[in-house]
Amino acid sequence: NFYGIKEALDSLQLSASELGVSTGTEWIKTSGETIISSSPADGKEIAKVLAADTDAYHQVITKAQTAFKEWRMVPAPKRGEVVRQLGEALRKNKEALGKLVSYEMGKSYQEGLGEVQEMIDICDFAVGLSRQLYGLTMHSERPGHRMYEQYHPLGIVGIISAFNFPVAVWSWNTALAWVCGDVTVWKPSEKTPLTAIACQKITAEVFAKNHVPEGVSNLVIGDAKIGQLLSQDKNVPLVSATGSTRMGKAVGEEVGKRLGRALLELGGNNAIIMTKNADLDMSLIGAVFGAVGTCGQRCTTTRRLIIHEDIFDEVAEKLKSAYGQLKIGNPLDESNHVGPLIDKDAVQMYENAIVKAKKEGAKTIVDGEVLAGNGYESGCYVKPAIFEVKNEMEIVQSETFAPILYLIRYSELEEAVAMQNDVPQGLSSAIMTRDMRESEFFLSHQGSDCGIANVNIGTSGAEIGGAFGGEKETGGGRESGSDAWKVYMRRQTNTINYTNDLPLAQGIKFEF
Ligand code: NAD
Repeated sequence: NFYGIKEALDSLQLSASELGVSTGTEWIKTSGETIISSSPADGKEIAKVLAADTDAYHQVITKAQTAFKEWRMVPAPKRGEVVRQLGEALRKNKEALGKLVSYEMGKSYQEGLGEVQEMIDICDFAVGLSRQLYGLTMHSERPGHRMYEQYHPLGIVGIISAFNFPVAVWSWNTALAWVCGDVTVWKPSEKTPLTAIACQKITAEVFAKNHVPEGVSNLVIGDAKIGQLLSQDKNVPLVSATGSTRMGKAVGEEVGKRLGRALLELGGNNAIIMTKNADLDMSLIGAVFGAVGTCGQRCTTTRRLIIHEDIFDEVAEKLKSAYGQLKIGNPLDESNHVGPLIDKDAVQMYENAIVKAKKEGAKTIVDGEVLAGNGYESGCYVKPAIFEVKNEMEIVQSETFAPILYLIRYSELEEAVAMQNDVPQGLSSAIMTRDMRESEFFLSHQGSDCGIANVNIGTSGAEIGGAFGGEKETGGGRESGSDAWKVYMRRQTNTINYTNDLPLAQGIKFEF
């Protein structure tokens, strides 16, 4: 019983063998393959999960179509009340679910709890939103006419999610989709199936208590093939996909072919600009947490530090000393700072990236290493590394999902911002400075081209209240707060004539 994981599994009602397809309280037995859920923390198998096959996928879609007709008739604030209760259920299950997230995915227990807190927060947000699905009213150019717009539920929302935020991304989508009157079909990452089953079970209990029909919350566990079925399916008007840019291009193309809607949340290549006016102590904490938190496996992980030449050597020295103090090990042990990578393939990618960086001329500041021995038996633990590089190097231009930090020198702020923007991705960015002119330049339209731009905060971690997402190869989608809900609904413009005349718009005459 590793760090109380057995109690957590019991309280989440999870066993060693689970079905991976569900429409709510009903679970569907398939002839699909078996996926093994295992932990990168100790390398042990947690459970076997029976994945979806094509037939099960279609059964789920049929159920979802019927459920949509019923669910869209429930008033939005009543749908919000169900989501409020889901938030309550998540509060009750926070420790157990947070622990399972940590154990199955490998992020620290604190981060696991943080992820569940994000789910609770988005439920709260969605409850308020359920009374604020506002459209505008406009003044008509024609006398005796009224014009306004309304937002209607869209239908089935397909959710494809990544392993690194195995539960929060699902809730960002579902909490909004459900209050908007949509039904959801979730294909989680095949690397984290058990946390998905836990979410489905928690939801099913709340939904059943509220007589929400089967088919409003659906789960189809499987690999990319199930994701492709969702992308190609005309019955799914919106596909919200989170993952690599490679996956997003494939999904975007399939959804585009049928002119469906795709909400894409893809890879990042995030930089912090440290000017000579930065508060160094604060900047270092932001940079180190941003680079090594979740073992470098956040879409918002700090991958590049663009440092003013006057402070470069001092910052590099301080980073080296901070990295020397990092404790790497079991993520459930709260005294550790850095947990494992998700699996051995990820370790291979980390090693390949370091070899490539060196070949391209990177200068080693803190070298990488795959850790072995006591406590590292899973083979997934690595040492966070730092290299001095040039921004244009091929390896620096791509996202390696591992704790490798690249340091780059600059002399003029314009040059720093140009380098920060000169990558294919456009998710998160930050500037560390106490100079108002520098920060305003960075935030202006000549500044950062990213979806997220911060001042005196690192690149990683975002609050649910803002719209989350990025530009360029990050995909352009926005999820979570602000008006991100609008993509989950269809907009209709309505004009009503309450006179006995039929005046045409633009003064056009049509008489007979
Ligand atoms: P991944 O692209 O390998 O997989 C993500 C999901 O897509 C999985 O569920 C997978 O089964 C599915 N998938 C893969 N190929 C598919 C295809 N052709 N059609 C349909 N579905 C397909 O990504 P990952 O390794 O799980 O996650 C890491 C990546 O996710 C990183 O690039 C990270 O930056 C990104 N990410 C982005 C955000 C964001 O909000 N921008 C958030 C989290 C993660």
